[in-house]
Amino acid sequence: MKNSAICLFSGGQDSTVCLYWAIRNFDEVIALSMDYGQKHSIELSQAKKIAAIAEVQHVIVPVNLDFMSDSSALLTDDLKVTENHKLRSDLPATFVPGRNMLFLTLASSFAYVKRYSHIVTGVCQEDYSGYPDCRDNFVKALQVTVNLAMDSNLTIHAPLMNQSKADIWALANDLNIQDLVVSETHTCYSGVRTLNAWGRGCGECPSCELREHGWEVYLKNKKERYYYGRQIQSIGERKLRFRRANKRV
Ligand SMILES: [Zn+2]
Repeated sequence: MKNSAICLFSGGQDSTVCLYWAIRNFDEVIALSMDYGQKHSIELSQAKKIAAIAEVQHVIVPVNLDFMSDSSALLTDDLKVTENHKLRSDLPATFVPGRNMLFLTLASSFAYVKRYSHIVTGVCQEDYSGYPDCRDNFVKALQVTVNLAMDSNLTIHAPLMNQSKADIWALANDLNIQDLVVSETHTCYSGVRTLNAWGRGCGECPSCELREHGWEVYLKNKKERYYYGRQIQSIGERKLRFRRANKRV
C-alpha cells in the first residue's frame, strides 16, 4: 500500500479544500467524482477544471440513480431545494438516501484496486443539512465495514467533520486556495455562477446561504483575532518600554 489517497471530489467548496488537504498530506492523490445525474452539470465541469489546476489525476465514475430521481431536489427540477424531504420531514429535500455511503463504498473499491490505502471525504456534521451519512459515527462504521468486506486496511479521513463553514474558509486560507474556492468551486443548488465575495452562486438557496454565512463569520473571526493580536502586541510593547525605562534608571 502506498502513502496515497483517493479524494472524493464534487468540485464544491468542501471537497476542494479536502483535495488540497490531501495533496498536502499524501504523496499521491487521485480525485474521484461521481456522475450521478446531478441536476447541474456545471459541478462536474468545475471539478475537471479544479483537478487540472491542482495537477491531480481525475476519474469520473458514472452512477445511475435514476430509480430515485424523483425523491431528491438534487436529482430533479420538480422538487424545491428549500422544502423538506418528502419521505423525511426532518431532512431537506436535497437529501439523496445513502449517497455518501454509496460514494464512499465505491471510493473504497477504487482505492483497493489502485492499491491506495487512504480515502479523503469532505463530509461534515457541523453546519450541515443533517444528512445521516455525513456523521462521524457513520464514517467510522463504514471504515470498519469496507475493511471487513475486502479484508483490507483502508483509512477514511474526514478532515472537515467537526469544522464549521467559517473554519473551512480559514483552512482554505491556510492552504492558500481561498481565491480558487471563490472563483472556481460550485455549491449553489440553483446552478447559478454569479460571482460574490464568498464565491459563485445565487445567494438565496440553502447552500449559498450556508456558504455566505460561513464567509461572514470567518471575516468577523479574522477581524477579532487581528484586533486581539494587536492588543496583545501593544501590551507587550508597553511592558518592553517599561522594562527599558526601568533599566535606564
Ligand atoms: Zn445558490
